[in-house]
Amino acid sequence: MFESLYQSFEDHADPSLGASRVEALRHALKRLKLDGFLVPRADQHQNEYVSESDERLAWLTGFTGSAGLAIVLADKAAIFVDGRYILAVAGQVDTSVFAPIASATTSPEAWLEGNLKKGARLGYDPWLHTPGAVERLAKAVGSAGAELVAVEPNPIDVLWTDRPPVPVGKVTLHAQKYAGETAAGKLARVAGALGAADALLVSDPHAVAWAFNIRGRDVSHTPLPLAYAVVPKQGRPTLYIDARKLDGPVRDKLGKLAEVAAPERLVSDLVSLGRGRKRILFDSATVAAKLTSVVERAGGICDTGRDPIAVMKARKNATELEGARQAHLRDGAAMARFLHWFSVTAPKGGLTEIAAAEALETFRRETGKLKDLSFPSIAAFGANAAIPHYHVTERSNARIGKGIFLIDSGGQYEDGTTDITRTLAVGRPTAEMRDRFTRVLKGHIAIARAVFPKGTNGAQIDCLARVPLWQAGLDFDHGTGHGVGSYLSVHEGPQRIAKVGIAPLEEGMILSDEPGFYYAGHWGIRIENLVTVTPRAIPGAEREMLGFETLTLVPIDRALVEKKLLDAEEVAWLDAYHARVRKEISPLVEPSVRRWLAEATRRI
Ligand code: ZN
Ligand code: ZN
Repeated sequence: MFESLYQSFEDHADPSLGASRVEALRHALKRLKLDGFLVPRADQHQNEYVSESDERLAWLTGFTGSAGLAIVLADKAAIFVDGRYILAVAGQVDTSVFAPIASATTSPEAWLEGNLKKGARLGYDPWLHTPGAVERLAKAVGSAGAELVAVEPNPIDVLWTDRPPVPVGKVTLHAQKYAGETAAGKLARVAGALGAADALLVSDPHAVAWAFNIRGRDVSHTPLPLAYAVVPKQGRPTLYIDARKLDGPVRDKLGKLAEVAAPERLVSDLVSLGRGRKRILFDSATVAAKLTSVVERAGGICDTGRDPIAVMKARKNATELEGARQAHLRDGAAMARFLHWFSVTAPKGGLTEIAAAEALETFRRETGKLKDLSFPSIAAFGANAAIPHYHVTERSNARIGKGIFLIDSGGQYEDGTTDITRTLAVGRPTAEMRDRFTRVLKGHIAIARAVFPKGTNGAQIDCLARVPLWQAGLDFDHGTGHGVGSYLSVHEGPQRIAKVGIAPLEEGMILSDEPGFYYAGHWGIRIENLVTVTPRAIPGAEREMLGFETLTLVPIDRALVEKKLLDAEEVAWLDAYHARVRKEISPLVEPSVRRWLAEATRRI
């Protein structure tokens, strides 16, 4: 999977309530002497998956996409979404209340400049925007002669009477056999990486989870504990977390590493640091504007940059990589059982997208080790597969007939996170399908086989995945690969393979390799494996070179491969990959699946 998906937050979202909820919000704003309010799809940590209590945008508008912003003014309201959601948003919100706007065409800032009246006061919740976002908004609001005003508590929270409580999922310890490094060791490394700063505010819960070797249950699909930490250059760190999440042994263990404090204490502790004229490092991507503003106001110095934990976490150690290999063996066996089942079931007709996704989930559950899906599965037949961010619902649920079925899915296991896409032919594929599939495969292989000097970033190799499509005048409109965590987020930065991937690819990073091709209205193709960056010994090499090791072990549908489009080296790669899949996965599956696997991994 690439970037973000819809959430399963459909209970609280109801487009028909949009009008009355906006009306109520406008009344509340009037009492607060405000002329408008910003409602982003965000939580305090800028998480991709948010808890239900943070689904304010869905509650207000009915829109359940994973990114968006509503602006409610006294006489008009708009909802801004990116390109992938522009069709969906019109179906989810009451468009007589909210004008849907593609943010690439008109940014919220540009819209505010044109629509705010002079002297107007526009409110925002300082917990839900980063300092950078507030700065951009303030500039636009200012140039309209209006004022941007921080508002607490969030008026939506006051109006949302059946708002779910904030989650208090139990925290578990992430064992040394999976983490490979003690939390004490990690925290010491972080303290040593603070440069001129006196302390780091860890605002990204993924970073908190990594540094303290803990996992949580506060949001779906990613085992996150919603928490903050302050790591000083010298002295004990403080972990800010709701005590209800900690059972005795976990509390004892964490108490040895850090002071454990209530989240409510964070602001006053930051004020104290500010009064002491301390220099605090903040992560610009995840910190709330509220937190930098309290330090600034107290007289402290704010460095907003990158949390040094991001790169430490991205570079998996030997234990984490071994865990990833084990997770991929287990997941590969579940996928092989699914693909065998699909090859028998789909041609009979009548199978639906939801039934296929549920069957795959069952095979993953039968491993006995599945903690959660790493994201909601994308199971898409025909024209649905041409929508890269398709999310099957009861309404859209297509019957799988002859054509192309695409399934993008993944599992969360304690030893690793998986993410895999396979494109499958049902019946005989057309020549055009085979041509396009093979071009995507060539791009996939080009990344898998790439060798590059140390220091190379993802943007510099992104085109390798596209050249075979470019040669036919084609392309795809998403990144080639994203970073993946270790029993953490299926989307992890800073590593990525994309036109804008500026982070150097470093040894131990895990990324996806997932080029695709989408024929709108007809069918779509994507081939996705996870890979890890490894050193490459090349005889006579003058530079330190890196390449990829493929982690995912699942057959690629041979029926869609047009052999004459592959060169000898590509054929050799595919045959070697399939031989490896057969060797590694055969011992893990029952005889009927093993027989299917032998056929599915034959030489091309
Ligand atoms: Zn995927
Ligand atoms: Zn992916």
